[in-house]
Amino acid sequence: MIVLVVNCGSSSLKYQLVNMDNEEVMAKGLVEKIGLPDSQLTHKWNGQKKEIKQSIPDHKVAVKLVLDILTDAECGVIKSMDAIDAVGHRVVHGGEEFAASTLITDEVMKALEKCSAMAPLHNPPNIIGINACKAIMPGVPQVGVFDTAFHQTMPAKAFMYGLPYELYTEDHIRRYGFHGTSHRYVAGEVAKVMGVPVEKLRIINCHLGNGSSLAAIKYGKCVDTTMGFTPLAGVLMGTRCGDIDPAIVLNVMDNHNLSTKEMDTLMNKKSGVLGISGVSSDFRDLGEAAKEGNERAQLALDMFHYQVRKEIGAFAAAMGGVDVITFTAGVGENGIEDRAAIAEGLEYLGAKLDPQRNDVRGKDALISTDDSTVKMYVIPTNEEIMIARDTKEIVSKQ
Ligand code: ADP
Repeated sequence: MIVLVVNCGSSSLKYQLVNMDNEEVMAKGLVEKIGLPDSQLTHKWNGQKKEIKQSIPDHKVAVKLVLDILTDAECGVIKSMDAIDAVGHRVVHGGEEFAASTLITDEVMKALEKCSAMAPLHNPPNIIGINACKAIMPGVPQVGVFDTAFHQTMPAKAFMYGLPYELYTEDHIRRYGFHGTSHRYVAGEVAKVMGVPVEKLRIINCHLGNGSSLAAIKYGKCVDTTMGFTPLAGVLMGTRCGDIDPAIVLNVMDNHNLSTKEMDTLMNKKSGVLGISGVSSDFRDLGEAAKEGNERAQLALDMFHYQVRKEIGAFAAAMGGVDVITFTAGVGENGIEDRAAIAEGLEYLGAKLDPQRNDVRGKDALISTDDSTVKMYVIPTNEEIMIARDTKEIVSKQ
């Protein structure tokens, strides 16, 4: 079975064509700046790369272009579009309606539209992508895989906010959590690497990238996570503020006469390690600036490491202990010094980092010492393969 994995952003479309007989990635690529003057497609296959710069006014044109290049005589990997058996879509918000991936039907589309109100930046482009694929590949089954689904097992005591109860029942205000596909993948993968069933492990997964979240995964089920009603909550991120006293929002809006949109931009785009350092949202830049003596860059890093360590402690308490701590995503997979700084002081928990083993990037690796009772691992995430696996499973059952 050949599955096309599609991840649509507001002006981008990432794709991977996966042969599910052996999970081989046949081709992958990215369409950027859809609807903007300098739109382009970057396509990679068999170790080769091709860039096409042309006008790509909307997502439908983008999907058409992707299908054209996948079937192209020179850089294609399939003879015709008919070789694609199913399409798996990343969908950011599935609300409470979707606790698992699902075949997309007209009813599902209606439910997705409803969820858009909760993720106005993310869900509309996901829906546009699904509609574009449906229009160009009629009859090919489409599957939705939700960032929120894995977290639907959280108990009410973890997902409720201390607000009037009606805000939950009527406005659906609660913690949803994000990066669920990544957290689910890493939990399964570390269990495999350790040779222990996931049902026997208490895992704290640290997905640390531009956006960061931690998840407490107890015996295979998510019991808590740091992101909340939106992906703005939790630890300090590249440009997002993470958890702050909610009264600050009112105070800053009043004092600076900001609209809700301006405040939203301040918290989502101008805060986090960028806002603190004034240098960059990129952790590599921050590391360099800190080494050159930039104190605000060092402060931003210190805050990030401290907040991640604090959440690890919180989740160990939430699960009555922890067996394994995993690091994934850009910073988690590559940030050797970041992992070392986060793990500093976790010895009380039984988690001891091995500096030699920690000198590793981008591959499955044990990084704790032999006498560490809590194991620590680097596990590179792979959300695309999760989407492809779910798509295969759902379509095979039809
Ligand atoms: P996104 O949330 O956009 O998917 P990624 O998971 O790709 O983000 O993570 C991007 C982050 O990973 C950037 O801040 C980048 O600096 C960081 N990163 C990549 N390589 C390294 C490295 N060698 N050391 C520290 N951070 C790194």
